[in-house]
Amino acid sequence: MILGAWLLLAWVSPTTTPAAVLVSTPRGESRLVVIRDTSWGPAVPAASLVAALDGSLKQVEGWAEVVVAKQRFRFLLGVPAYLVNDRLEPLASAPFLARDTVFLPLQFVAEALPRTLADRFSYDPDHSRLVEVVPKTAAVPGPLRFASGLQPGHLVTVDPGHGGLDPGNPGLFFPRGITESNVTLQLGLLLREELQRRGVGVRMTRTTDTLIDLGDRGAFCTEACDLFVSLHINSLVKRAGYTAIRGFETYFLAEAKTEDAARVEQMENEALRFETARTAVAPDNGVEFILKDLQLNEYLRESARAAELVQEHLDKVHPGGDLGVKQAGFMVLTTARRPAILAELGYSTNPGDARFLTNPRDQRQIAAALADAIVAFLREYERKTATPADSGVNP
Ligand SMILES: [Zn+2]
Repeated sequence: MILGAWLLLAWVSPTTTPAAVLVSTPRGESRLVVIRDTSWGPAVPAASLVAALDGSLKQVEGWAEVVVAKQRFRFLLGVPAYLVNDRLEPLASAPFLARDTVFLPLQFVAEALPRTLADRFSYDPDHSRLVEVVPKTAAVPGPLRFASGLQPGHLVTVDPGHGGLDPGNPGLFFPRGITESNVTLQLGLLLREELQRRGVGVRMTRTTDTLIDLGDRGAFCTEACDLFVSLHINSLVKRAGYTAIRGFETYFLAEAKTEDAARVEQMENEALRFETARTAVAPDNGVEFILKDLQLNEYLRESARAAELVQEHLDKVHPGGDLGVKQAGFMVLTTARRPAILAELGYSTNPGDARFLTNPRDQRQIAAALADAIVAFLREYERKTATPADSGVNP
């Protein structure tokens, strides 16, 4: 109730009222003039609003009916309220008719509309801007696709390994001061760009040099997320000939099958020692936890396929050699409840791999190859879940 009173004050105060509202949609931008000196409070012409939003306006007797994004709003002119889905919602001022033109309260644009259709509209009060986005879950009419061949609505979580207190491996042949965590972040940010360019939504577990606990990283990939991708750089401890070993490999979550997979697993799970007491698990118990958790992950087949595609695509650009798809019990993958993979993109303990992984032009290539692999995975996934109506085979 106090909030309602405050809003009413805010909405009649001329100092908070913009002269115009910018309406930004996938179809373009338009400016809505705000009429401020009315006895009813700041308002916008309904016809301009529906034109900007590709909606419709109907006037019947004392009513105005506005349809935006298939949602119907009904206004009784002169009454500070509107009807939506048979619910009556209050407004601070009333819609009205002036010289045959219907005006709607500015509050409808700035507040009621973005609240009712929250997945479609947002309002930025600082810039007096109404933004329309095509919702992820929108039923897409016909085979609407990005140039990548993907349908809209995919979301991938990108997890740049390590960060903050945990530098990852020290990066023997990386430029001075650069460690694994720096390179995974650079590659992760590039991967985000490349995925977005292909029409895939991206959630990052980190975008700065911070430490996210291993057990928390997977939680970024929940129901709406199609794939969890953790990026890492391999390294070996000093022994005879160790700098000659190079190449890339991709893991999916399972019990470590080989001695080398067990080594990488242990190395990556080591980050547990940097974590807070709240989540810290001794590495030994960590493995037990992982094995218990394994049976809960029903996406092994999909994860293995994603790993395979990453290897195929990286092989086209990577000079180090394809070391194959492997399985191990990575802590970071256990908490993802969706297909999840971990790519070891090369060895910082090999001069050739290290150069490749830190050269900006090569980094771009790596990111593009990863993005192509992810797109290929998502397209296969689309085909598997396609209904006859949207398969595009039988128009
Ligand atoms: Zn790592």
